[in-house]
Amino acid sequence: MSFASLAASDPQAYNILKKEIGREHNTLELIASENFVSRAVLEMAGGVMTNKYAEGYPGKRYYGGCDIVDEAENLARERASRLFNAEYVNVQPHSGSQANMAALLTFVKVGETIMGLDLAHGGHLTHGSPVNFSGKLFNIIPYHLDADTGRVDFDEVMKLAREHKPRLIICGGSAYPRFIEFEQFHEVADTVGAFLMADIAHPAGLVATGFHPSPMPYCDVVTTTTHKTLRGPRGGMIMVGKDGENPFGLTAPKSGRVKNISEILDSMVMPGIQGGPLMHIIAAKAVAFGEALTPGFRDYCRQIIDNAQAMAAEFLSRDYQLVSGGTDTHLVLIDLTNKAITGKAAEKALERAGITVNKNMVPFDKRSPFITSGIRIGTPAVTTRGFGVDEMKTIVNLIDRIIKNPDDEQEEQNVRNEVQILCNRFPLYQDLFDE
Ligand SMILES: *Cc1c(COP(=O)(O)O)cnc(C)c1O
Repeated sequence: MSFASLAASDPQAYNILKKEIGREHNTLELIASENFVSRAVLEMAGGVMTNKYAEGYPGKRYYGGCDIVDEAENLARERASRLFNAEYVNVQPHSGSQANMAALLTFVKVGETIMGLDLAHGGHLTHGSPVNFSGKLFNIIPYHLDADTGRVDFDEVMKLAREHKPRLIICGGSAYPRFIEFEQFHEVADTVGAFLMADIAHPAGLVATGFHPSPMPYCDVVTTTTHKTLRGPRGGMIMVGKDGENPFGLTAPKSGRVKNISEILDSMVMPGIQGGPLMHIIAAKAVAFGEALTPGFRDYCRQIIDNAQAMAAEFLSRDYQLVSGGTDTHLVLIDLTNKAITGKAAEKALERAGITVNKNMVPFDKRSPFITSGIRIGTPAVTTRGFGVDEMKTIVNLIDRIIKNPDDEQEEQNVRNEVQILCNRFPLYQDLFDE
């Protein structure tokens, strides 16, 4: 990939790109929702399919000249089907939020009740936050984690479900270090006659490789992003394990006819909430899914979890409190209450030292979402760089030194230097960086 044209035509924008390449190379990326795509994905995402209008679906487009992008979309759908064991896949949602919007509007009418994990307990904006479309369109009953175990409180979930009779329950979240309990949620949904939607945006890569349980046997609809552990381009996706005439009496938005669930979901994505699909991104999804089907990706996902568990053990040995006491997945959620520092201050101090994490609410947090008492740390991105268990221990040591001395400029510089040495040992997009 060369940036010669960009550098010549728009030095100002080129400079910004160069700075971001440098930042990604020279910092430790521990944001649990981020990753680094392969060069192959990058090339496809930066390719000419950005030029093509393709409203509709393969074989049924509103525009001419779509034969080739049809091939790309079919390839993405077919590979995703195999990865997740899903009969139906829609790869058009521009993001995870769009996937959730289309799925929710398919199963739930405006004004009806849904249940989702409280944002402050690890849920997502689109699971019912009052500032989000989900909280504005639906009546939201949030459920919570158990204060002692740090896991979903199923006594509460069952009690709320019986009381409020939701149309749909969402399981999954953004800061949940444990396996999503699809089977237990299914039991609750079944008991009260609710639909069950799984949002596997975070663990999708782990689900695809079998290191996290699959939602398919238990959930009516599954949504995900493609850019987190799945390591594809930024985007979303909707899946259904078994298609067929929908048993729910759901009707198509336009004709009002009862249709297959796949047809309703398709028409909810487009024309329901989106226009033309991002064909360059859909083609890049196909490339990423191809990578995810290889044994190498399986090894990668195994390493993500080994790395997260090594980090968790190292933090515990240094008297850090982890929500739920550890992790099954790619992330740990640290409660800093016993460390005399807020999540916000920790995030800022770590950033100055070249370590990128995000502040995060912990369950029953007494601080606001802007301050918080915790930080969330994930291993997908550094694992992509090639970091292993030894490097995880080194990173925890660096984080610990900053958390203990957040205002010590000398220590900040020392840690920054060690971060740089680590980053140089595991180069990222080296040729782009060197250009
Ligand atoms: C990241 C995430 C999303 C949304 O992703 P965007 O692509 O940022 O819209 C949805 N749900 C969960 C649980 C997430 O973690």
